[in-house]
Amino acid sequence: ALGYHKVVKENRNLYNMVQDLKGNIRVYCRIRPAFSAEAKNVVDFIGEDGSLVVLDPLKPQKDGRKNFQFNRVFGPTATQEEIFKDTQPLIRSVMDGYNVCIFAYGQTGSGKTHTMCGPSGGSTKDMGINYLALNDLFQLSNKRTDTVKYDIHVQMVEIYNEQNRLSVFHFICWPDFVFLTAHKLEIRSCDSGPSVPDATMHSVKSTSDVLSLMKLGEVNRVVSSTAINNQSSRSHSILTVLVHGKDVSGSIIRSCLHLVDLAGSERVAKSEVTGDGLKEAQYINKSLSCLGDVIAALAQKSSYIPYRNSKLTLLLQNSLGGHAKTLMFAHVSPEADSFGETISTLKFAQRASTVELGAARMNKESTEVKALKEQIESLKKALANKE
Ligand code: ADP
Ligand code: MG
Repeated sequence: ALGYHKVVKENRNLYNMVQDLKGNIRVYCRIRPAFSAEAKNVVDFIGEDGSLVVLDPLKPQKDGRKNFQFNRVFGPTATQEEIFKDTQPLIRSVMDGYNVCIFAYGQTGSGKTHTMCGPSGGSTKDMGINYLALNDLFQLSNKRTDTVKYDIHVQMVEIYNEQNRLSVFHFICWPDFVFLTAHKLEIRSCDSGPSVPDATMHSVKSTSDVLSLMKLGEVNRVVSSTAINNQSSRSHSILTVLVHGKDVSGSIIRSCLHLVDLAGSERVAKSEVTGDGLKEAQYINKSLSCLGDVIAALAQKSSYIPYRNSKLTLLLQNSLGGHAKTLMFAHVSPEADSFGETISTLKFAQRASTVELGAARMNKESTEVKALKEQIESLKKALANKE
């Protein structure tokens, strides 16, 4: 049996390598610890090879076993450090000019914010990927100081409430306290993917800069969410890190890292006034269902990908179908009463893992290429003037 496992594991590593070459969306599944030891746990098996078996609490027989396969599965005892260790190489590649996107998906309470930010309460213990990533990028930047000069900027955008057509608005809160309507919020395409020009870009030079911005952001988030009666589980927060580098040969690196804590993926009961009066209906966050549509279209290699149906998918367009490196954390709760949402998250994640991205492309331009491009432009102009 051990031999068999070894072969499975080796095949799995090979499979992962091929996936990496193909540049699929990578999927890591993380299962948070159960809140109580008595609660029935649906996780039946976690394989080192990225396999996961969950058990339907209502069908404990054989047909209640559901098998899934991901790049990695992290069980309830996995630490923040272990998670970061397996994410670090991907994150570091942003310093070489690759665009990188990491997003956390899952129902409310499954641990998305824990992975991205860390435990609530503002302690610096068990910090999440956002902080560890920036910390690591600064270290790398300091290490390379003789060869590359880096500038790092961060921006945080919160996308709120796309599901209600009457009050569609987007909200930018970090670290400034600004409301922007859907019409005003412009998403502009730039070298390193779309960005939101109205949200402030903050130059950060050290981890302590980032920490103080995060503190301010947390305060603003609390103030603002009370002001608009928001539950943070209904909004997406996107931390974007823009990297600009210039190496000794004069080559320019421009890339971006999106770190996304998505809204809860659960369906929520909501009252709506319709022609027949007040109606209770099941709604899923609109931009999340748009994200699902985009992933389904990409998985089917459809000729039309509906990126423009939501601000979220528009902002993440390059990370989902372009030449970026993308990693999804699929978060699940182990308790039996979450089984339905757990299955739906795992199916979503499984579909996402079949999405092929374009070969990751380095956004690095050498001085020669830059000079040639400029020459082409000036020749074009000269030609146009002659005509
Ligand atoms: P979400 O952002 O998906 O709604 P949270 O990250 O807020 O979920 O997690 C819900 C609760 O579970 C929080 O109290 C959080 O601290 C705790 N939690 C989540 N994941 C873990 C984990 N891996 N280890 C310990 N506690 C966790
Ligand atoms: Mg959260």
